[in-house]
Formats: sequence, structure tokens, C-alpha cells
Amino acid sequence: MSDFSRRNFLSAAALAAGVVGADAAAQADDYGEKEKNEHGGESEPIPTFRYPMETEKGRHTEGGFSREATVKQLPISEGLAGVSMRLKPGGIRELHWHAKAAEWAFVLKGRVRATVFSPDGTSETNDFDPGDVWYFPRGHGHALQGMGPGEAHFILIFDDGHFSEFGTFGVSDWFAQTPPEVLAKNFGVPKSTFANYPKIEAFIPQGAVPPAKQNAPLMGHLRTPVDTHKYPLMSQEPRKFNGGQERKVTAKEFPVSVGITGVILELEPGGLRELHWHPNADEWQYWIEGSGRMGLFGSHGRSRIEEFGAGDAGYVPRGFGHWVENTGDTPLKVLIGFNSGVYEAIDVSAWLASNPTDLLAANFGAPAASFEEFPHRRVFIAPKDGVSKGEYSKD
Ligand code: MN
Ligand code: MN
Repeated sequence: MSDFSRRNFLSAAALAAGVVGADAAAQADDYGEKEKNEHGGESEPIPTFRYPMETEKGRHTEGGFSREATVKQLPISEGLAGVSMRLKPGGIRELHWHAKAAEWAFVLKGRVRATVFSPDGTSETNDFDPGDVWYFPRGHGHALQGMGPGEAHFILIFDDGHFSEFGTFGVSDWFAQTPPEVLAKNFGVPKSTFANYPKIEAFIPQGAVPPAKQNAPLMGHLRTPVDTHKYPLMSQEPRKFNGGQERKVTAKEFPVSVGITGVILELEPGGLRELHWHPNADEWQYWIEGSGRMGLFGSHGRSRIEEFGAGDAGYVPRGFGHWVENTGDTPLKVLIGFNSGVYEAIDVSAWLASNPTDLLAANFGAPAASFEEFPHRRVFIAPKDGVSKGEYSKD
């Protein structure tokens, strides 16, 4: 094969294999195929990392509705997906499980009761208020109820961007797909019992508002698990900075949540979550209130900045550099989920400060003395007019 046809063959093979982004770029580099992108870089531009989730119609049934951001709506979001769900008082997100992903949730509004059943036979029921978090390990059976008064609204985060399609299993769907005589044998009841069961997945049927104190289960009582599935995130004392604050829950504070870490990041107008990246996890965001912009750096001269507002979902692939800035006049509040129970970040201020000024001087071609003006510690959040000396020594 000539060089030319070999190159074409290789790029066709890469396309056929569905190799995109960094992998395709690496292959292109290896074989000398370099396309200049709009930033002067040499690989595929970064695709969008914003999806206006709350503008979608969503899936509606009698007791509530849900909108989702999966790889279908936001193709970059391979590692995590999210759902915005609302339940009417008495609305039931029916008994179901997720084959591919664990479920982490943050309640924005209203009250929700959740029951979860684990393979060790333990079961737990909790009531959740705004600011509370739940976590259900992958495959564990669960159901939700809107407790009223008023609608309950919560954001669900899943640690797989493909969680939804062919991955969410509803009990009514299963029973509708099973011969009634099998169900009759299974439960020891007449076949006619199932005649009026839903013929398709019920999803969110409407029920009565449940009593404040839950009725006893069929088995009489529950065996409760060692590790609770509930964590009151907004009751936590925030880490405060000039320019904003952060609350965070990892598996350290919430042991059952081995697969997901959650954060509530709040930035004052002009506040900046500094340049950083996460070595161990992808990041999924739900912009709760306010507005701002996020910059993503994807190596090889690739970067992209997008504007965000309330109701938007955002995504940052593992290892990609990024920053978030409140560009509005009101506080910005972002819910963040990582697909690891361990939180890791490298904040660029702390990284630079771990190097001597002669190295930094050579790296940037700038006077060594100029780096004395840089923070000597981690910044994490910078205020509107920039971080000032003495204010960055948090950790
Ligand atoms: Mn679920
Ligand atoms: Mn981040």
C-alpha cells in the first residue's frame, strides 16, 4: 500500500470502529493526518457539553413526569446521565431497578418517600426533604412517592450515560410481559388476579397521598441495613471562600454511595471555580439557578466555552481541564455528580504553587519574580475581582 492509500485505509478503519475524539486524534497523529481546527489545534473540535434539559417535553404519565439527559441528548456524556423528575402528591415512581447504573438524587422541592430493597434482604424507607440526597446501588429495587403538599422535584444522577435505554426495568412492564399462569404459580393466587394489571409499563401512576407514618409492609416488619441510603447534604456546613461556597458528599461521609460523589457549588456574581480537572471521574452538572459560563480544555489546542442557565445539564469528561464562572447578577447554584465515591481534583493554583519559580519562569518565559505574586496555596474559588493575598490559604 502506498502511504496515501494506507492513511486513507487507516482513517476509514478508525471511522468504522467508531473511534472518535482523543482516540481518533491519537491515530491521526500517529499517521500524520493532521487537520487544523478552528483554534489552531490538530484534532476534532470539542462537541457541545451543554443540554437544555428542562426545555424538553419529557415523559408524562398520570402521577408526574421526567426529562432526561443521556448520551442520546448529550452525546459527550458517556460516563453519567441525569433525570429531572416531578411527582404529584400521591404520584408513584413505580417499583423498578436499573441494570446498568447506581442512582444518586438531590431533592430540590417538595417531599419524597423512597423505599429500597437490597439483595441481602434488608430494606429501608426514608422521607426526603429539599437538600437531602439518596443513593441506590446498581440493580437494587426501589420506588418513590410524592408526599405533598405540592409537587416534588428532584434530580437523579446515574453513573452510566447509557443508563436509560434498555437499562431501567419496571415491575408493571415485566408482569405485563409474563404469562398470567406463571404469575399465578409464582404468587399462589388465581390467574384472574392479574387481568386488570397494566398492559404496558405504568412508570408514574397516581395513588393516594401516603400516610405520614408508613403502613407496615406485607412481611410485617423490615430488616434495616447497616448503611443508610439517606444523607442530608444541605445540612452540612459549607466550605466557605471569598466568592462562593461548596458542600460535598463522598463515600467517606455517606458510605453506601461508593459509586457517586455529589457537590453543591455556589458562586457569587463574578465568582470563579478555578481551572481544575478530576483525575478519577467524569463530572455531570445540573444548573439549579443563576447563569454563567464553563470553559473546557481538551488538549491539542482544543477548547470550548459555553453559556449555561437554570435547567441546563453540563458534562466534563474525566481529565479534561475546566472552569465555571458566574456571569450573572444573581447567585449561581450548580449540582454536580462524579462517577466515583472518591473525590479527586487538581486545582491549577495549588499545582503551580508546588513548583519553584525558576521552573515556572522557564515554562512561561516570564520573570521568576512575577510568580511571587501568584497564590502560594490553593484558590478553589476566586471572587469577582480576583483572589487577593492571604485569602487562598484554606488548604
Ligand atoms: Mn430509579
Ligand atoms: Mn469540576
